[in-house]
Amino acid sequence: NGFIELGLAPELVQAVADLGYTQPTSVQLKAIPLAMGAGADAKHFIDLMVSSQTGSGKTAAFLLPVLNTLINQQAAAEAEERAAFERAVAEAAARGEPAPKRAKRKDPTSSRNFKAATPGALILCPTRELAQQVAHDAIDLVKHCRGLRVANVVGGMPYQLQIAKLQNADLVVATPGRLLDLQRSMQIKLDKVQFLVVDEADRMLDLGFSDDLAELNQLTSQRKQTMMFSATFAPRIQQLAMRVMHDGGSSVQ
Ligand code: AMP
Repeated sequence: NGFIELGLAPELVQAVADLGYTQPTSVQLKAIPLAMGAGADAKHFIDLMVSSQTGSGKTAAFLLPVLNTLINQQAAAEAEERAAFERAVAEAAARGEPAPKRAKRKDPTSSRNFKAATPGALILCPTRELAQQVAHDAIDLVKHCRGLRVANVVGGMPYQLQIAKLQNADLVVATPGRLLDLQRSMQIKLDKVQFLVVDEADRMLDLGFSDDLAELNQLTSQRKQTMMFSATFAPRIQQLAMRVMHDGGSSVQ
C-alpha cells in the first residue's frame, strides 16, 4: 500500500485500505509530505496553496496530514498523562501513602460540564453540501482512531443539535457563516486551531466569503498551518493567499 511510505499512522493506513485506496493520487503524493512537515524539523509546518480539481483526491490530501498530526499529538498527550500518573503513584508509595486514583473524565454531554468546543483543526467549505461530504470523508478516515472526533457545522441544522455535536470535537468541518455565529455566541473557541484548511477557495470568493475568511484567520492561532485548495491560482486567489497565509503559502501544482 503506497500510503505506508507517506509515513501515515497505522490507523489511517488501515482506513484508506478499507476505502479501497491502494496508491496515493498525484495531489496526495505532492501535498501530504509537505503538509506533514518537511525535513529534519517536522515540527515546522509550512502553509500550502494547492491547485486541485474535484475528483483528484484533494479531500484526503488535506484530511490525512491533519488527522495524522492530531493522532501523534493525542498519543504524545496520553503518554505524558500516563507518565505523570506513574510518577504520582511512585511518589505516594515512597511516602507510604495509598496510590492515587486516576482522574475520571467528565461526561461532556452533561449540561453541568458544558464548555465551549476548542477544536485543533478547522476545515472551511463554501457550501453546506461540500462540508457534509468532507465531514463524511473525515469520519471514514478516523474510524480506527480511538478518541478523535469530527463535527460538522453548517447552516440549516438545528442549533442545539449542532452544539451538542461540537462538544469535544477535534476536527470541525464548517461553512464560514454558521461557524462565525457559533463563535460569536461563544459555543466554540478557535484559538486552539492549529490547522486551517480552506477548501475550494475560488468558490469561497465567488460566494462572497472573503471577509469571513479573513476574520476566521484572525480568530485562529497565529502559529497555525494554513492550506488553501483551489481549482485555479487566479490573481484574486493569490490575493486571498497573501491575506491569510505566511508569505502567501508555498504553491503545489
Ligand atoms: P475528491 O477529489 O476529494 O473529491 O475525491 C474524489 C474521489 O476519489 C472520492 O470518491 C474519493 O473517495 C476518491 N479517492 C481519493 N483518494 C483516492 C485514492 N488514493 N485512490 C482511490 N480513490 C481515491
